[in-house]
Amino acid sequence: MENVYFDNAATTKLDSRVLSKMMPYFESVYGNASAIYRLGRNAHSALEDSRKIVSEILGCNQDEIYFTSGGSESDNTAIRGIAYANKDKGRHIITSKIEHPAVLETCKSLSKEGFEISYVSVDENGFIDLNELQNLIREDTILISIMFANNEIGTIEPVKEIGKLAHEHNIYFHTDAVQAVGSVKIDVNDLNVDSLSLSAHKFNGPKGVGALYVRKGVKFNPLITGGHQEKKKRAGTENVAGIVGLAEALKLAYDELDENNERIIKLRDYYLDEIKKRIPYIKINGDLEKRLPGNTNISFRFIEGEGLLLNLDNKGICASSGSACTSGSLDPSHVLLAIGLSHEVAHGSLRVSIGKYNTKEEVDYLIDCLVEIVNRLRNMSPLYEEFLEGEK
Ligand SMILES: *Cc1c(COP(=O)(O)O)cnc(C)c1O
Repeated sequence: MENVYFDNAATTKLDSRVLSKMMPYFESVYGNASAIYRLGRNAHSALEDSRKIVSEILGCNQDEIYFTSGGSESDNTAIRGIAYANKDKGRHIITSKIEHPAVLETCKSLSKEGFEISYVSVDENGFIDLNELQNLIREDTILISIMFANNEIGTIEPVKEIGKLAHEHNIYFHTDAVQAVGSVKIDVNDLNVDSLSLSAHKFNGPKGVGALYVRKGVKFNPLITGGHQEKKKRAGTENVAGIVGLAEALKLAYDELDENNERIIKLRDYYLDEIKKRIPYIKINGDLEKRLPGNTNISFRFIEGEGLLLNLDNKGICASSGSACTSGSLDPSHVLLAIGLSHEVAHGSLRVSIGKYNTKEEVDYLIDCLVEIVNRLRNMSPLYEEFLEGEK
């Protein structure tokens, strides 16, 4: 098989229905949405129709949605924007140890600009420790930023409780919901969220376009200054085709949420069950209940994740490992270390993220390939040999 795609947490295939909706905004309605002639006005109304769709799905007002270039920009805008605009109230920010780099690196950068960052820990399933969070809160805490669902292990955080705690202390609550949007139902008011990031390419929309919800009344500075677009909060000629695609992808994701999730969860559980049956010495990472439908993360002991990925690639399978080696560093994932895995176990981890286009045949193929590859790699491993000796 070719291009058996199990890396849906990294990005997803564009839904062809989304592409069809986008095409007119490349080909005919190419006006600048700020222009006063009809070609511009038509682009502008597509923009506002898209904003309406997004706001209805998140349960907020249209003027609380800002379009951006993606999840990273949305996270940066929320965190930097709120930090800079509220620094007179305090300079303390709380986040977690398992955030995406878009949040972690932003906080790290702020820590060099006079802000102080606290990192709340997580338990072995990846849930943040609410007691510790409460204890970290100070007089000068202005922002709590905790992700909605983790991109590596799929654990869904107690967002509503975090928001409640934040609001009891008059602290803003930002959530990076890039992994959750499109597969989990979200109502920003019910969840006590003040700002939320999402990105179209994670739910079968186009790459390079995202949105940021910011509750009315929450002060934040723009990251990108220039023209008056997005209520002066995000300058730059709007990516109309991308935004139309984002809205359409979001609409389709929520119209078809239940049926897609049911199918995806079935495939996921089947995959996990078969691997448990057929491969010994594994550990399934992340919570099994409060989990993103498509996420699986398994540590295969005595195996290097990179070896696993290369062998899977030879079989046409795309997946992701539990270490950042592929991105040029030898450190195991900060998320897997935060849930308590040893370096060795973290290194042998494989994230298989299932999406709406995956089939049972593909999952069967993946399982057969994995069984063969894991056996072969283990048989070449001195660590495994030593371990078997010890077991005797
Ligand atoms: C993918 C991802 C991002 C980054 O989004 P981009 O649109 O790729 O910039 C941020 N946070 C999480 C949790 C993600 O999964």
